Amino acid sequence: MKAAVWYGKEDIRIEEFPEPEVGPGKVKVRIKQCGVCGSDLHEYFSGPFIIPSKPHPLTGRTGGPLILGHEFSAEVVEVGEGVKGFAAGDRVTVNPLIYCGTCHFCRRGEHIMCTKLGTIGFAWDGAFAEFGVFPAYGLIKLPDSVTDEMGAAVEPLAVAIHAVNRSGMKIGDNVAIIGAGPIGLFVQQACKASGAGHVYVVEPMKARLETAAKTGATAVFDPTAVDAGKEIGALTNGLRADIAFDCVGNQASFDTAVKVTGRRATICVVGLALKPIEVPFIRLWGHEKTITFSSGYQDEFPAAVAYLEDGRVKVDQLITGHIPLEDLVEGGIKELRNHPDKHVKILVQP
Ligand SMILES: [Zn+2]
Ligand SMILES: [Zn+2]
Repeated sequence: MKAAVWYGKEDIRIEEFPEPEVGPGKVKVRIKQCGVCGSDLHEYFSGPFIIPSKPHPLTGRTGGPLILGHEFSAEVVEVGEGVKGFAAGDRVTVNPLIYCGTCHFCRRGEHIMCTKLGTIGFAWDGAFAEFGVFPAYGLIKLPDSVTDEMGAAVEPLAVAIHAVNRSGMKIGDNVAIIGAGPIGLFVQQACKASGAGHVYVVEPMKARLETAAKTGATAVFDPTAVDAGKEIGALTNGLRADIAFDCVGNQASFDTAVKVTGRRATICVVGLALKPIEVPFIRLWGHEKTITFSSGYQDEFPAAVAYLEDGRVKVDQLITGHIPLEDLVEGGIKELRNHPDKHVKILVQP
Protein backbone atom coordinates (compact mmCIF):
# COMPACT_ATOMS: atom_id res chain seq x y z
CA MET A 1 0.00 0.00 0.00
CA LYS A 2 1.01 3.63 -0.36
CA ALA A 3 2.05 5.41 2.86
CA ALA A 4 3.84 8.52 4.12
CA VAL A 5 6.62 7.08 6.25
CA TRP A 6 8.60 9.04 8.87
CA TYR A 7 12.26 8.01 9.03
CA GLY A 8 13.56 10.90 11.13
CA LYS A 9 13.74 14.66 11.37
CA GLU A 10 12.84 16.27 8.02
CA ASP A 11 12.63 12.84 6.41
CA ILE A 12 9.14 11.65 5.42
CA ARG A 13 9.01 9.46 2.31
CA ILE A 14 5.96 8.56 0.23
CA GLU A 15 6.57 4.92 -0.58
CA GLU A 16 5.23 1.39 -0.78
CA PHE A 17 4.77 -0.05 2.71
CA PRO A 18 3.64 -3.57 3.74
CA GLU A 19 -0.15 -3.61 4.11
CA PRO A 20 -0.95 -4.27 7.79
CA GLU A 21 -2.69 -7.53 8.70
CA VAL A 22 -5.59 -7.75 11.10
CA GLY A 23 -5.05 -9.72 14.34
CA PRO A 24 -7.13 -10.77 17.37
CA GLY A 25 -8.95 -7.81 18.94
CA LYS A 26 -7.98 -5.55 16.05
CA VAL A 27 -9.74 -4.04 13.07
CA LYS A 28 -8.41 -3.23 9.61
CA VAL A 29 -9.71 -0.03 8.08
CA ARG A 30 -9.38 1.94 4.84
CA ILE A 31 -8.41 5.52 5.72
CA LYS A 32 -10.76 8.19 4.35
CA GLN A 33 -9.54 11.55 5.69
CA CYS A 34 -6.67 12.39 8.04
CA GLY A 35 -5.90 15.82 9.47
CA VAL A 36 -2.38 17.21 9.77
CA CYS A 37 -1.73 18.13 13.43
CA GLY A 38 0.74 20.47 15.11
CA SER A 39 2.37 17.43 16.70
CA ASP A 40 3.03 16.00 13.20
CA LEU A 41 4.87 19.26 12.48
CA HIS A 42 6.93 18.79 15.67
CA GLU A 43 7.88 15.25 14.55
CA TYR A 44 8.85 16.47 11.09
CA PHE A 45 10.80 19.59 12.04
CA SER A 46 12.39 18.51 15.33
CA GLY A 47 11.45 14.88 16.05
CA PRO A 48 11.53 12.34 17.47
CA PHE A 49 9.29 14.12 19.89
CA ILE A 50 6.40 11.85 20.96
CA ILE A 51 7.77 9.01 18.80
CA PRO A 52 9.53 6.76 21.37
CA SER A 53 13.33 6.69 21.37
CA LYS A 54 13.43 3.33 23.19
CA PRO A 55 11.11 0.36 22.48
CA HIS A 56 7.56 1.25 23.53
CA PRO A 57 6.42 -1.07 26.36
CA LEU A 58 3.10 -1.92 24.65
CA THR A 59 3.87 -1.71 20.92
CA GLY A 60 7.61 -2.38 20.83
CA ARG A 61 8.06 0.45 18.33
CA THR A 62 11.13 2.73 18.37
CA GLY A 63 11.66 5.65 16.01
CA GLY A 64 11.12 5.09 12.28
CA PRO A 65 10.09 3.79 9.88
CA LEU A 66 6.72 4.86 11.24
CA ILE A 67 3.48 6.18 9.72
CA LEU A 68 2.21 9.40 11.34
CA GLY A 69 -1.45 10.50 11.36
CA HIS A 70 -3.89 10.31 14.29
CA GLU A 71 -6.91 12.53 13.37
CA PHE A 72 -8.88 10.43 10.92
CA SER A 73 -12.04 8.84 9.62
CA ALA A 74 -12.07 5.40 8.06
CA GLU A 75 -14.16 2.47 6.82
CA VAL A 76 -13.88 -0.99 8.35
CA VAL A 77 -12.65 -3.60 5.85
CA GLU A 78 -11.94 -6.58 8.12
CA VAL A 79 -12.42 -7.46 11.80
CA GLY A 80 -10.06 -9.69 13.75
CA GLU A 81 -10.88 -12.65 15.98
CA GLY A 82 -12.99 -11.78 19.02
CA VAL A 83 -14.05 -8.33 17.80
CA LYS A 84 -17.73 -7.67 18.45
CA GLY A 85 -19.92 -4.77 17.33
CA PHE A 86 -18.07 -3.84 14.14
CA ALA A 87 -18.39 -5.18 10.60
CA ALA A 88 -16.98 -4.43 7.16
CA GLY A 89 -18.48 -1.21 5.79
CA ASP A 90 -18.89 0.55 9.16
CA ARG A 91 -17.79 4.19 9.09
CA VAL A 92 -15.61 4.97 12.10
CA THR A 93 -13.13 7.25 13.77
CA VAL A 94 -10.52 6.00 16.24
CA ASN A 95 -9.44 7.18 19.68
CA PRO A 96 -5.65 6.90 19.17
CA LEU A 97 -4.77 6.00 22.78
CA ILE A 98 -3.12 2.62 23.26
CA TYR A 99 -3.13 1.70 26.94
CA CYS A 100 -2.31 -1.24 29.18
CA GLY A 101 -5.74 -1.65 30.80
CA THR A 102 -4.26 -2.89 34.08
CA CYS A 103 -2.34 -0.01 35.72
CA HIS A 104 -3.79 2.14 38.54
CA PHE A 105 -5.05 4.82 36.12
CA CYS A 106 -6.42 2.41 33.49
CA ARG A 107 -8.43 0.66 36.21
CA ARG A 108 -9.99 4.04 37.04
CA GLY A 109 -10.78 4.73 33.34
CA GLU A 110 -8.15 7.49 33.22
CA HIS A 111 -6.40 6.06 30.17
CA ILE A 112 -4.62 9.29 29.27
CA MET A 113 -2.59 8.81 32.48
CA CYS A 114 -1.72 5.15 31.69
CA THR A 115 1.84 4.55 32.86
CA LYS A 116 2.58 2.76 29.56
CA LEU A 117 0.53 5.05 27.30
CA GLY A 118 1.19 4.98 23.57
CA THR A 119 -0.56 6.72 20.70
CA ILE A 120 -1.52 5.68 17.17
CA GLY A 121 0.56 7.76 14.77
CA PHE A 122 3.53 7.97 17.19
CA ALA A 123 4.12 4.54 18.76
CA TRP A 124 1.96 2.58 16.28
CA ASP A 125 1.49 3.09 12.53
CA GLY A 126 -1.05 5.84 11.91
CA ALA A 127 -3.34 7.04 9.18
CA PHE A 128 -1.22 8.74 6.52
CA ALA A 129 -1.61 5.51 4.53
CA GLU A 130 -4.23 3.62 2.52
CA PHE A 131 -4.92 1.14 5.34
CA GLY A 132 -4.42 0.84 9.08
CA VAL A 133 -4.91 -1.83 11.75
CA PHE A 134 -5.98 -0.58 15.18
CA PRO A 135 -7.20 -2.02 18.51
CA ALA A 136 -11.00 -2.43 18.34
CA TYR A 137 -11.40 -0.74 21.76
CA GLY A 138 -10.53 2.63 20.17
CA LEU A 139 -13.16 2.55 17.41
CA ILE A 140 -16.23 4.81 17.46
CA LYS A 141 -18.94 4.59 14.79
CA LEU A 142 -19.85 7.70 12.83
CA PRO A 143 -23.54 8.49 12.23
CA ASP A 144 -24.61 9.30 8.64
CA SER A 145 -24.80 13.03 9.32
CA VAL A 146 -21.12 13.12 10.31
CA THR A 147 -19.20 13.15 7.02
CA ASP A 148 -15.71 11.68 6.61
CA GLU A 149 -14.32 15.23 6.80
CA MET A 150 -16.16 15.88 10.06
CA GLY A 151 -14.98 12.47 11.26
CA ALA A 152 -11.38 13.63 10.92
CA ALA A 153 -12.23 16.50 13.30
CA VAL A 154 -13.49 14.26 16.12
CA GLU A 155 -10.00 13.85 17.63
CA PRO A 156 -9.11 17.57 17.86
CA LEU A 157 -12.64 18.28 19.11
CA ALA A 158 -12.17 15.60 21.80
CA VAL A 159 -8.99 17.46 22.86
CA ALA A 160 -11.12 20.61 23.20
CA ILE A 161 -13.96 18.95 25.14
CA HIS A 162 -11.41 17.38 27.49
CA ALA A 163 -10.01 20.86 28.12
CA VAL A 164 -13.50 22.09 29.01
CA ASN A 165 -13.89 19.13 31.40
CA ARG A 166 -10.46 19.73 32.96
CA SER A 167 -11.24 23.43 33.47
CA GLY A 168 -14.32 22.63 35.57
CA MET A 169 -16.35 25.08 33.45
CA LYS A 170 -19.91 25.56 34.69
CA ILE A 171 -22.92 26.56 32.59
CA GLY A 172 -22.89 30.32 32.11
CA ASP A 173 -19.20 30.85 32.91
CA ASN A 174 -17.52 33.53 30.83
CA VAL A 175 -14.42 32.14 29.18
CA ALA A 176 -11.42 33.57 27.35
CA ILE A 177 -9.49 31.61 24.74
CA ILE A 178 -5.85 32.66 24.34
CA GLY A 179 -4.67 31.72 20.85
CA ALA A 180 -7.01 30.98 17.94
CA GLY A 181 -4.96 28.27 16.24
CA PRO A 182 -6.55 24.88 15.58
CA ILE A 183 -6.79 23.96 19.29
CA GLY A 184 -8.08 27.38 20.36
CA LEU A 185 -10.75 27.45 17.67
CA PHE A 186 -11.99 23.99 18.68
CA VAL A 187 -11.93 24.93 22.40
CA GLN A 188 -13.93 28.07 21.55
CA GLN A 189 -16.71 26.03 19.93
CA ALA A 190 -16.55 23.29 22.58
CA CYS A 191 -17.06 25.91 25.34
CA LYS A 192 -20.07 27.39 23.60
CA ALA A 193 -21.55 23.96 22.83
CA SER A 194 -21.05 23.00 26.50
CA GLY A 195 -22.94 25.99 27.89
CA ALA A 196 -20.39 28.80 28.34
CA GLY A 197 -21.76 32.31 28.80
CA HIS A 198 -19.65 34.68 26.74
CA VAL A 199 -16.65 33.40 24.80
CA TYR A 200 -13.84 35.91 24.24
CA VAL A 201 -10.89 35.16 21.96
CA VAL A 202 -7.44 36.78 22.18
CA GLU A 203 -5.14 36.30 19.19
CA PRO A 204 -2.67 38.56 17.36
CA MET A 205 -3.16 37.09 13.84
CA LYS A 206 -5.91 38.94 11.98
CA ALA A 207 -7.10 36.02 9.81
CA ARG A 208 -7.45 33.78 12.86
CA LEU A 209 -9.41 36.45 14.75
CA GLU A 210 -11.77 36.65 11.78
CA THR A 211 -12.28 32.87 11.86
CA ALA A 212 -12.96 33.07 15.61
CA ALA A 213 -15.56 35.79 15.04
CA LYS A 214 -17.18 33.85 12.18
CA THR A 215 -17.43 30.68 14.28
CA GLY A 216 -19.25 32.22 17.21
CA ALA A 217 -16.89 34.18 19.49
CA THR A 218 -18.71 36.89 21.48
CA ALA A 219 -15.84 39.34 20.96
CA VAL A 220 -12.27 39.06 19.70
CA PHE A 221 -9.15 41.01 20.73
CA ASP A 222 -5.71 41.56 19.25
CA PRO A 223 -3.39 41.70 22.31
CA THR A 224 -0.83 43.76 20.36
CA ALA A 225 -3.41 46.50 19.79
CA VAL A 226 -5.52 46.53 22.98
CA ASP A 227 -5.30 45.50 26.65
CA ALA A 228 -7.46 42.35 26.46
CA GLY A 229 -7.77 42.25 30.28
CA LYS A 230 -9.30 45.73 30.43
CA GLU A 231 -11.51 45.08 27.39
CA ILE A 232 -12.92 41.86 28.84
CA GLY A 233 -13.25 43.60 32.23
CA ALA A 234 -15.36 46.32 30.59
CA LEU A 235 -17.69 43.69 29.12
CA THR A 236 -18.11 41.78 32.40
CA ASN A 237 -18.74 44.51 35.00
CA GLY A 238 -15.08 44.36 35.92
CA LEU A 239 -15.23 40.65 36.77
CA ARG A 240 -13.19 39.45 33.76
CA ALA A 241 -13.29 35.80 32.62
CA ASP A 242 -14.10 32.90 34.96
CA ILE A 243 -11.85 30.62 32.94
CA ALA A 244 -9.00 31.21 30.52
CA PHE A 245 -7.75 28.51 28.18
CA ASP A 246 -4.11 29.06 27.28
CA CYS A 247 -4.06 27.36 23.88
CA VAL A 248 -0.54 28.57 23.04
CA GLY A 249 1.74 27.67 25.94
CA ASN A 250 4.36 30.40 26.22
CA GLN A 251 5.16 33.27 28.61
CA ALA A 252 3.14 35.87 26.70
CA SER A 253 0.03 33.70 26.41
CA PHE A 254 0.19 32.68 30.07
CA ASP A 255 0.60 36.34 31.13
CA THR A 256 -2.48 37.16 29.03
CA ALA A 257 -4.42 34.32 30.68
CA VAL A 258 -3.57 35.80 34.11
CA LYS A 259 -4.64 39.26 32.94
CA VAL A 260 -7.98 38.32 31.38
CA THR A 261 -9.20 36.27 34.36
CA GLY A 262 -10.76 37.56 37.56
CA ARG A 263 -10.92 36.45 41.19
CA ARG A 264 -11.24 32.71 41.89
CA ALA A 265 -10.76 32.06 38.16
CA THR A 266 -9.18 29.01 36.57
CA ILE A 267 -6.41 29.01 33.98
CA CYS A 268 -6.38 25.81 31.96
CA VAL A 269 -3.12 25.32 30.05
CA VAL A 270 -3.85 23.37 26.86
CA GLY A 271 -0.96 24.49 24.64
CA LEU A 272 2.30 22.63 25.00
CA ALA A 273 4.90 24.85 26.71
CA LEU A 274 8.33 23.63 25.63
CA LYS A 275 10.15 26.21 27.77
CA PRO A 276 9.63 27.02 31.47
CA ILE A 277 7.08 29.76 32.19
CA GLU A 278 7.38 32.25 35.06
CA VAL A 279 4.26 32.32 37.19
CA PRO A 280 3.31 35.55 39.04
CA PHE A 281 2.31 33.79 42.26
CA ILE A 282 1.40 36.98 44.11
CA ARG A 283 -1.36 37.75 41.60
CA LEU A 284 -2.64 34.18 41.61
CA TRP A 285 -2.46 33.99 45.41
CA GLY A 286 -4.34 37.21 46.06
CA HIS A 287 -7.18 36.21 43.76
CA GLU A 288 -7.08 32.51 44.68
CA LYS A 289 -6.78 31.45 41.08
CA THR A 290 -6.34 27.83 40.00
CA ILE A 291 -3.97 26.57 37.32
CA THR A 292 -4.78 23.28 35.69
CA PHE A 293 -3.61 21.41 32.59
CA SER A 294 -5.20 19.48 29.77
CA SER A 295 -3.04 17.20 27.67
CA GLY A 296 -5.29 15.01 25.54
CA TYR A 297 -8.57 13.20 26.08
CA GLN A 298 -9.98 10.09 27.60
CA ASP A 299 -13.62 9.33 26.81
CA GLU A 300 -14.66 12.54 25.06
CA PHE A 301 -14.95 10.96 21.60
CA PRO A 302 -18.69 10.10 21.78
CA ALA A 303 -19.39 13.66 23.00
CA ALA A 304 -17.37 15.06 20.09
CA VAL A 305 -19.35 12.93 17.63
CA ALA A 306 -22.62 14.14 19.24
CA TYR A 307 -21.55 17.81 18.99
CA LEU A 308 -20.83 17.34 15.27
CA GLU A 309 -23.94 15.23 14.64
CA ASP A 310 -26.42 17.92 15.67
CA GLY A 311 -24.37 20.81 14.28
CA ARG A 312 -23.50 22.37 17.65
CA VAL A 313 -19.90 22.39 16.45
CA LYS A 314 -19.18 23.22 12.81
CA VAL A 315 -15.93 22.44 11.09
CA ASP A 316 -16.44 23.73 7.54
CA GLN A 317 -14.70 27.03 8.39
CA LEU A 318 -11.85 25.15 10.07
CA ILE A 319 -10.96 22.86 7.14
CA THR A 320 -8.78 25.03 4.95
CA GLY A 321 -7.15 22.53 2.61
CA HIS A 322 -7.47 19.11 0.98
CA ILE A 323 -4.38 17.33 -0.33
CA PRO A 324 -3.42 13.89 -1.65
CA LEU A 325 -1.01 11.75 0.36
CA GLU A 326 1.88 12.55 -2.03
CA ASP A 327 1.62 16.21 -1.03
CA LEU A 328 1.81 15.68 2.77
CA VAL A 329 5.18 17.37 3.31
CA GLU A 330 5.00 20.33 0.89
CA GLY A 331 1.23 20.95 0.79
CA GLY A 332 0.50 19.93 4.39
CA ILE A 333 3.34 20.12 6.92
CA LYS A 334 5.37 22.95 5.33
CA GLU A 335 2.25 24.83 4.20
CA LEU A 336 0.95 24.90 7.81
CA ARG A 337 4.34 26.09 9.12
CA ASN A 338 4.72 28.80 6.44
CA HIS A 339 1.12 30.09 6.29
CA PRO A 340 -0.45 29.86 9.77
CA ASP A 341 -2.66 32.82 8.85
CA LYS A 342 -4.22 30.89 5.94
CA HIS A 343 -4.86 27.56 7.60
CA VAL A 344 -6.53 25.77 10.46
CA LYS A 345 -6.82 22.10 9.39
CA ILE A 346 -5.49 20.52 6.21
CA LEU A 347 -6.97 17.09 5.42
CA VAL A 348 -5.10 14.34 3.59
CA GLN A 349 -6.99 11.78 1.48
CA PRO A 350 -4.87 8.65 1.32
ZN1 LIG B 1 -3.61 15.99 16.89
ZN1 LIG C 1 -2.49 1.62 31.95
